[in-house]
Amino acid sequence: MAETGTTFAADGAEKQFRDGLNRGEFNIQQCASCKKHVFYPRTLCTNCGSPKLVWKRAAGTGTVYSTSTERYKPEAGGDKNIAVVQLDEGPRMLTRITDIAPADVKIGMRVTAHIGEADGIKLIYFRKA
Ligand SMILES: [Zn+2]
Repeated sequence: MAETGTTFAADGAEKQFRDGLNRGEFNIQQCASCKKHVFYPRTLCTNCGSPKLVWKRAAGTGTVYSTSTERYKPEAGGDKNIAVVQLDEGPRMLTRITDIAPADVKIGMRVTAHIGEADGIKLIYFRKA
C-alpha cells in the first residue's frame, strides 16, 4: 500500500509528533525564522507564517496555566484532572496532571512531562515537579 499521508503536510507534522511519542520522545517545533516554539504540530509558524519549523526535544517542564476536574464515577476510574500547561518554551497544551488528586492541582504549580497512554494512544501528561 502506497504511503499517501506524505502528500498532506498537516498530517506529516502530526505523524512526526506521534512517531516521536512512540519512541518515547516529547518533541516540539521551533521556527528557524523567528525562534518561537510551536505546539500543536503545524506546517507553518503560528507567529510569523514561516514553513521552516524544526523539531526539538522539549525540556518537558512547565507551569499549570489553568486546571479543572472532570467528574467520573468510581467504576470509571474516578475524577480526573484536566489542565492547560504552559511549557517553558512558551506554547500551552491541553493535558492531565497525574499522580495527584485533581483538586490538589494548583495554577502556577511546576510540572514535568511524562508519556502516558489512553485507549492505546500515547499522550503527554504531567506530574508535580
Ligand atoms: Zn516564526
